[in-house]
Amino acid sequence: MSTPLYSVRMRASLHGLHLAGAERIVAESEVSETTARLTARAMSTLGGPPDDVSCRVESLARQTVCYESLPDLSTCLVDGWQGGRQLAVSLLVRAGVVEAVARTAVALLARGAGPGGKVMRGAVIMDAATGERLEADPLRGVRVSRMDLDAECRPRLESLLSAASLGHSRVLEALVLAGKVLHAPGLVAELCWSDAVDYTAGYVADRKNGYQRIVDLKPTGDPRGGRVFFVDLTGTSLQELVHYLERQVVLFNDMGSILLPKEWTPADE
Ligand code: AMP
Repeated sequence: MSTPLYSVRMRASLHGLHLAGAERIVAESEVSETTARLTARAMSTLGGPPDDVSCRVESLARQTVCYESLPDLSTCLVDGWQGGRQLAVSLLVRAGVVEAVARTAVALLARGAGPGGKVMRGAVIMDAATGERLEADPLRGVRVSRMDLDAECRPRLESLLSAASLGHSRVLEALVLAGKVLHAPGLVAELCWSDAVDYTAGYVADRKNGYQRIVDLKPTGDPRGGRVFFVDLTGTSLQELVHYLERQVVLFNDMGSILLPKEWTPADE
C-alpha cells in the first residue's frame, strides 16, 4: 500500500484581517519540519506579527493525486505600471477574453475587488464573454488549494528560477498556483497582481502562452491587488470548476521553459 501524502496549510491574520497564507504537499517524514517552517514564515510576515496563526495538516490518498506539468514562464518588461496594465489587457484579449471584460477586470483589481474596495482573500471568477462575476462570496472569493511541486521537481525549479534572477518565493508559488488554475475546467485566462505594497509584478496566464510575468502592474506602496479567473462554462459548471480549484490535489512533476525577459512596446500588440 502506498504511503499517504499530507497537505500542510498555514493561515495567519491580525485583528481578523488576513495577513499571510501558504501551503505545501509533503511526505509524512516532512510534516513537522514543514509545519515549523510555515509557522516561522507566518510570524515574520510584513505587517505582523499575526495574532492568530493556524496550521492544518490533512492526509491525502495518493490515488487522488493528479500529476501535471508547469506552464512556460516568460517575462515582459514594460515602461511603468500603466504600460503593464495595457499589456495585461492585450494578453487577456489574445487569450480569448472580450476586451471590455479585460478592462473591467483590471479596473476592478485596481480599486479593490472586495466589497467597499477591500482586497479579497481569494479570486474573482468572471465570465470571459460578459464580465459577470460568478463567485459566491465577493469577499472570500475562491481559494485555490492542494497543489505543489513534487519532491524532485522543487529543487530543479528553484535552481532554474534562481539562475534567471527569479528566486523570490512569490514567483515559484504563483507559478504553481497558475499551473493548477490553467488545468481547471472552463478556464480561459488568469490575471494577478499582488496586494503586497512592495511587490509590483504580476502576470497573465493562459493555456497556450503559459505564465506571462509582467514586471510592473501597480505603483509601489499600493496595497490593492487580487486575482481574476476568466471562464467559459460551456460544457462544465461553476460547481465543477470550484471543486477542482479548491479540492483536486495537483502535483507538478515537470516544468516548462523559463524564457528570457523581453521588452514590450504597444507596437508588439
Ligand atoms: P499574492 O500574490 O499572494 O499577494 O495574492 C494576490 C491576491 O491573489 C490576493 O490578494 C488574493 O486576492 C488572491 N489570492 C491569494 N492566494 C490565493 C489563492 N490561494 N487562491 C485564489 N486567490 C488567491
